[in-house]
Amino acid sequence: MSVEKVDTLVIGAGQAGVAMSEHLGKRGVSHLVLEKNRIAESWRTARWDSLVANGPVWHDRFPGMNFDDYQPDEFAPKEKVADYFVAYAEQIKAPIRCGVEVKSVVKDGDVFRVETSQGAIEARNVVAATGAFQRPIIPTVVPAETGIMQIHSHAYRNPAQLPEGAVLVVGAGSSGTQIADELLRSGKSVYLSIGPHDRPPRRYRGKDFVWWLGALGIWDLKVPAPNTEHVTIAVSGAYGGNTVDFRRLAARGMTLLGRAETFADGTMSFAPDLAKNIALGDANYLSLLDQADAYAEENGLDLPQEPDARKMEPDPACVTDPILTLDLKAAGITAIIWATGYAQDFGWAKLDAFDEKGRPVHERGVSKVPGLYFVGLPWLSRRASSFIWGCWHDADYLAGYIAEGQSSRSSKSA
Ligand SMILES: Cc1cc2nc3c(=O)[nH]c(=O)nc-3n(C[C@H](O)[C@H](O)[C@H](O)COP(=O)(O)OP(=O)(O)OC[C@H]3O[C@@H](n4cnc5c(N)ncnc54)[C@H](O)[C@@H]3O)c2cc1C
Repeated sequence: MSVEKVDTLVIGAGQAGVAMSEHLGKRGVSHLVLEKNRIAESWRTARWDSLVANGPVWHDRFPGMNFDDYQPDEFAPKEKVADYFVAYAEQIKAPIRCGVEVKSVVKDGDVFRVETSQGAIEARNVVAATGAFQRPIIPTVVPAETGIMQIHSHAYRNPAQLPEGAVLVVGAGSSGTQIADELLRSGKSVYLSIGPHDRPPRRYRGKDFVWWLGALGIWDLKVPAPNTEHVTIAVSGAYGGNTVDFRRLAARGMTLLGRAETFADGTMSFAPDLAKNIALGDANYLSLLDQADAYAEENGLDLPQEPDARKMEPDPACVTDPILTLDLKAAGITAIIWATGYAQDFGWAKLDAFDEKGRPVHERGVSKVPGLYFVGLPWLSRRASSFIWGCWHDADYLAGYIAEGQSSRSSKSA
């Protein structure tokens, strides 16, 4: 059987694959992008219906194209984000082949042998752009026999999908918080289990928090601050974009709970850490205001003062007198949504490129297997790496690295 030969094979045509194609193309590196579904598929079918981007359109985009039809401070709905990447791929004439799944990649001498759903490919370089949020994690806490519907946030679409009754959302990062808010607005009785989190102000002194993260150099942090590796970020662009404030959600009728721990005899136990988690979230919020004020002062920025941003509502009863055990049926809970994050999955890569936990070993995306690269992973080079504009910059670096290898090979053979 004939084997197709390519210089650089990019696997996945989400934003990371499209960015990679743009930068490889600019450097004249011949390449092919394989996508098992459609361009930016995750934005279409792996997110709930009402999701909008977490950052405003001036920020959550690539430098080479604006979002049409949106004011800079608006938040694009997920379908528009997907359309944007399709249009972007057309604009840069990205050589993307959709509907082709990479089944396995092995190294053979100095080339990679790639088995796909449509035949074999030989590539000198392989770039994994298959996404960081691939395998939903559902802790096996509540047995299926309880009869309570259990889904991951990945499978949540809209309130109509859930049975009558109350709902428990576990996890209060951006997904869990936004889904819990939507369910509350739909008239459901909602319980939200909250772990450690950051909750930046949506806007402060007239600037969106993504602007402040840029000004303060926080997007460029190389590693997470100590002890914050597992701290999730609760932020939302929904309903025009509001600061996530758990006290306000409680005031609207949501019951807040600490971290979900165990389940036995129909009863779920929660850690006595709710007040602490809320207090640490407040501290994170206030520290961003402090840093922003100091930055504005140092740089002589004429931004409106916003003293009200520091006012906190009193703690609601569910925080001062927390529920530590909850009989789910007695509370009327008929559904649990696990907004508990994702694992990475590189099952197709039959390569010695991973640590004992299956995580890629790399330096800024350059793996320990010569010719193998990763893009789009959290903290690949810095905090921004898994976000739309951050992955574009990482792709730029990796394409430069690949092009350099190519030119040193051709100068050696000259
Ligand atoms: C709920 C949610 C909301 C988010 N919101 C934002 C936001 O508002 N702003 C922001 O900047 N970031 C956001 N992110 C983070 C990040 O931007 C997205 O997850 C984004 O989809 C990541 O892009 P990617 O290209 O790395 O991965 P993906 O978009 O997942 O793309 C990977 C592609 O690879 C394909 N693929 C996988 N395996 C194979 C294979 N073996 N062969 C061929 N193709 C394959 C998949 O079909 C997919 O299309 C969000 C993440 C989540 C989970």
